[in-house]
Amino acid sequence: MTSVKTNLHTHTYRCKHADGDVDDYCREAVAADLHTLGMSDHTALPDDRWLGVRMAYKDLPSYMQTITDAQKKYPQLTILRAAECEYDEAYASYYRDELLGEYNCDYLIGAVHYFPHKGEWLSPFFDMNAPDLMHSFADYFIKSMQSGLFAFMAHPDNFASSRMHFDEEAKTCVRAMCEAAADLNVYWEVNGYGFRKQNVQTPYGERNQYPLEEFWDIASEYPIRVVVNSDAHRPQDVAANLDDALDLANRKKLKVVDVDEVLAVYG
Ligand SMILES: [Zn+2]
Ligand SMILES: [Zn+2]
Repeated sequence: MTSVKTNLHTHTYRCKHADGDVDDYCREAVAADLHTLGMSDHTALPDDRWLGVRMAYKDLPSYMQTITDAQKKYPQLTILRAAECEYDEAYASYYRDELLGEYNCDYLIGAVHYFPHKGEWLSPFFDMNAPDLMHSFADYFIKSMQSGLFAFMAHPDNFASSRMHFDEEAKTCVRAMCEAAADLNVYWEVNGYGFRKQNVQTPYGERNQYPLEEFWDIASEYPIRVVVNSDAHRPQDVAANLDDALDLANRKKLKVVDVDEVLAVYG
C-alpha cells in the first residue's frame, strides 16, 4: 500500500483514452487507502478543439455532476473537482469564469500536450529533437504558468518522451522554465504515469519517458515545490507509482506541498 495518501491527477472515459468513471476511481481510492482524490479529466473546451483526446463540451455537466454525486457517496474520501487544461488566451475566461467560477473547481492543472511552433500546434510526445522546438515548448510552458490559472503544471518533463538528447539547448530552456516557476511560485508535478509508459531507447541507453532524472537535477537547484500524482487513466492505477514519484522528489530534495497549499493558490 502506498505511503502517499493523495492523488490529484485522474481521468475518466470521457477523454477517450482512459477507462472508468469517477465512481470507479473513488472505489479504488478507498481500497488503496487514499484520503484525497482529485478528479482532473482532460478538460472540455467550448469549441471542442482537440476533441479526440478530451471530453466533449456537452459532457462537461455530467462530469461535474458525477463528482458531486461521488462526494455524497464517499464521505470517507475528500474528492476534489478539477480539470487538466491547455493554456490559450482564448480560453482564459472560460477557465476562470466557468470552470473555477460556475462549476467551482477546486483547482486547474496546466499541461502542455500541444504547443505553438511557427504557426502550427505540435505535440511534445512526437518529435522534440529538431532545433528550436525546445524553445517553443519552454516559451509556451512559461506563458501557461504566467496566466495564473493553474495550481500546478503536470509533467513539465514530458518533452523527454521524444527528445533523446538532454543537451545544452534543452538545459538552457529548462533553466528558463525553472526560473519562471520559482518567480511565479507555480508548483510542478512529478508524474507517476511516466513510470508506467513504455521506456524509450536513447543513444545513452533505455530510460523512462519521464520523469527525467537530469531534468529534476536542474529543478532541484531552484526553490521549486512539487506535487506527486499517479495521472491515472485506469481506476486500478489510482495510486500507481505515487511512491516512485515521491522517491524521486525526495532523492532530488524537492519540497513536496500538501493539498492545502495547492488549494490555497486561488486564495
Ligand atoms: Zn491523458
Ligand atoms: Zn493527465
